[in-house]
Amino acid sequence: MYRRTKLILTLGPSLDDRDTLVDMVKQGANVFRINFSHGTYADHYKRVQLVKEVSTELGVVTGILADLQGPKIRIAQFEKSEVILYKGQDFFIETALDSKSPGTSSGVFSDYAALVSDVTVGSVILLRDGSIALEVISINGSRVNCRVLKGGLLRDNAGLNLQGGGISASAISQKDMDDARYSIELGVDFVALSFVKSDQDIRTIRSFYEQHDYPITIVSKIERIEALENLDAIVQVSDAVMVARGDLGVEVGYADLPSIQKNIIKTAKKYAKPVIVATQILESMCTSPVPTRAEVSDVANAILDGADTLMLSSESAIGDFPREALEVLNESSLSAEKYMINENKIEQVAFPDSSLDVSIAYSAIYLSQNVPISAIVALTESGETAFWMSRSYTNVPIIALTPDARSQRRLLLFKGVHPYTFDYFSKSSSELYSAVIDFVRDRFSVKVGSYILLTRGQQIGIPGKTNSLRLIEVL
Ligand code: PEP
Repeated sequence: MYRRTKLILTLGPSLDDRDTLVDMVKQGANVFRINFSHGTYADHYKRVQLVKEVSTELGVVTGILADLQGPKIRIAQFEKSEVILYKGQDFFIETALDSKSPGTSSGVFSDYAALVSDVTVGSVILLRDGSIALEVISINGSRVNCRVLKGGLLRDNAGLNLQGGGISASAISQKDMDDARYSIELGVDFVALSFVKSDQDIRTIRSFYEQHDYPITIVSKIERIEALENLDAIVQVSDAVMVARGDLGVEVGYADLPSIQKNIIKTAKKYAKPVIVATQILESMCTSPVPTRAEVSDVANAILDGADTLMLSSESAIGDFPREALEVLNESSLSAEKYMINENKIEQVAFPDSSLDVSIAYSAIYLSQNVPISAIVALTESGETAFWMSRSYTNVPIIALTPDARSQRRLLLFKGVHPYTFDYFSKSSSELYSAVIDFVRDRFSVKVGSYILLTRGQQIGIPGKTNSLRLIEVL
């Protein structure tokens, strides 16, 4: 069996060691994420170079995803780095720049000036991923006065959310624009936009990359309530979506998170868009070499619901057991996929488009479910045909052969697709068929007497023009 589920690993200190990274690439990590919420440009540069070097050395293709921070609201620092808040005590958040001084157990500064208009008396402010809750009791000019509902340890720069949503900050800050510009310098393949509120946010970032003539796959991170309210519109204009369960879980509360995750996956499938499920996938493996039963069950359920991709965050960036975590993801994904085959849990996605190339892609999938086929091979310039094939279910590998390295990397996020660069322009039809069979035979198990299903465009060199489908018998 070949793993269909794709895996993203967040880069960080735990993957800075070359040997560890080599193992991760060998073990099948598909995409590496740089998180612009943490680290400097020098850190990101060094890490991306290492991934590129190691991948080239091993002859394995990997992609890079740049995750833009978006309007993550934070408190500032404390006199002594941390304070303990007790239930029932008063605590303020000050937003006036000229009142900025190190925080104490009475209050702390935040540079998010709009907080005073985003909250009203009774609003609940959540700090440190929801582990501390404050109820707003009054708003006095630039200061929000609160009473502590849930206390605990509060450290410098903790994240701030509003229970039930309501942060008005736009999804794209100046920092995000600077980081987007830098992502072009780094040559990334995917960009993730954090705290998306509406389809307009995606249009803005898309036009930024278009102005720079830089083709990129845009992932919308669904992590605020406003995004859930505008989900259909957001999904339609995105290239992929991410269920960003960290901040989403803080805003909506834990209890509703599983049903919201299922709904996001369902909506993505409705529009044939790929879905990434992220955050606390194997959280316990930050400090333990084995996962909990609940974690592997969560992994399997995300796959059974239709996720294309799973993403590790702290587990791979700062965890003690990144190798083990990837191994667990590999094994658990394969096991869930085997269950899907045995149970005949075939997901059929509606035809979103009746163009010829999409119809050919779906016909290939249909044939693979009904004829003894060892592999589907798509000769594709843009990667579109293979992308459409990945929207429906087949348990045979979809092998995308493209002359374009960018198209190859773009396909790394979509389940079931094995992308390779392959120069098919220079070959005549008869040479092509034997070259394709040899290429597939060298890498996949192909049974004599079975077929390889090949799709291609008769007008070689024109992207999006796949118009033929051929069964080649393996002799
Ligand atoms: C999340 O909040 O779940 C997420 C993926 O974003 P980040 O890791 O940037 O917090």
